[in-house]
Amino acid sequence: MKYDVAIIGGGIAGLPLSIDLKKRGYDVMVIEKGNYPRHKVCGEYISMESHTYLQNICPALSGLDLPVINQFKLTSGKRKEFTTTMGLGGFGISRFLLEDLLFKEAEKQGVKFMLNIKARDIDLDPGSLNYTIKTSSGDVMTSLVCNSTGRKSNLKTSPEMAHKTASTNYVGVKYHVRLPRNANLIEIHNFPGGYCGISNIEDGKSCLCYIVNSKNLNAVKNSIPELEKTFLFKNDKLEEIFNHAEFVFKEPVTISGINFLIKEPVTDHSFFLGDAAGSMAPIVGNGMSMGLRSASALSNYIDQYFQTSITKQELASNYNAFWNKEFATRIKLSRFLQQLSEYPFLTKRTIELFNLFPPLARGVIRQTHGKPF
Ligand SMILES: Cc1cc2nc3c(=O)[nH]c(=O)nc-3n(C[C@H](O)[C@H](O)[C@H](O)COP(=O)(O)OP(=O)(O)OC[C@H]3O[C@@H](n4cnc5c(N)ncnc54)[C@H](O)[C@@H]3O)c2cc1C
Repeated sequence: MKYDVAIIGGGIAGLPLSIDLKKRGYDVMVIEKGNYPRHKVCGEYISMESHTYLQNICPALSGLDLPVINQFKLTSGKRKEFTTTMGLGGFGISRFLLEDLLFKEAEKQGVKFMLNIKARDIDLDPGSLNYTIKTSSGDVMTSLVCNSTGRKSNLKTSPEMAHKTASTNYVGVKYHVRLPRNANLIEIHNFPGGYCGISNIEDGKSCLCYIVNSKNLNAVKNSIPELEKTFLFKNDKLEEIFNHAEFVFKEPVTISGINFLIKEPVTDHSFFLGDAAGSMAPIVGNGMSMGLRSASALSNYIDQYFQTSITKQELASNYNAFWNKEFATRIKLSRFLQQLSEYPFLTKRTIELFNLFPPLARGVIRQTHGKPF
């Protein structure tokens, strides 16, 4: 069988795209190397800009009582802190629950899945203009290919990407915890080499997630407990949280090799979305919304293409223009904030500045969030 669209990677960008396209009447195949449900390293804060789209795509979400997050706190070292309200804000939900609900909705709508199967390569037949995706379990024929394989894709966004390596790599660590705290507040606690976020998710749990320069982990011989003791606990708020929290799972979920290379949203073979097109540093809490926003826009352009209102070339150039206008500046700002946040000295100066001019902080938060869609 030939599909209208094959989507490689069924994460927070690929699953909504599959549902959106299926609802528009197209035959969709998702090739996913993993399975559902599963935990993923993520702060699990979703900007409110995606709220309506997510509920339209996945009605089961509207039945959940999820925490609304509209206050923000930044701390560094001992007793340096800044608190403000957030204009748009966000809500909290675990990736475990969110992806599981999206997967079930996609199946219900009739999206086909190849699970535990890895896509290896994509070939274009110049005669028929069909694509063949080579997978670990046979070939998939399709008219269009969308790549939502995330930040660590084996399928490169462009030939140049194959030669690019990031100068700095980060490690991400996540726990689910229980502790009494303000459910409407997201806290970012800076420490040497990184920062740790805490915000609430479903069922009264909180997501405790940090990102740290891999050099810091190397310095403590790759021991996570040592990393926490040596670096995170330099911030007394973090030491207090770790000492008082009840850990829902004792071993954290971890990920290494995180970088923030800028990639490309379109190549000859695929349309890229989510982190596969470029990743937003987590300090701005907007990576998932970037994936959702690009799924919504791409689905619309693909629909126009199949309805013959635009050519394939226009589909590519429209999506490319959309992506750059919407995300290129935000990604650059997120990378700048990421670098800043590694240094307590700079974070402390930023906190002082924010305390002197609170509207400045609200302006920065506004710049990192998009508009509701
Ligand atoms: C520490 C940390 C904290 C974060 N916190 C937040 C936050 O609070 N809020 C927020 O909005 N964003 C946050 N982000 C960013 C967010 O997690 C990402 O932007 C988001 O996960 C991107 O979704 P995606 O669908 O593009 O990629 P992914 O979620 O990585 O999904 C990619 C999928 O593709 C599959 N795959 C990969 N290769 C293949 C292949 N060859 N064949 C088949 N399948 C394949 C993978 O198994 C995976 O399921 C954080 C990121 C980090 C690192």
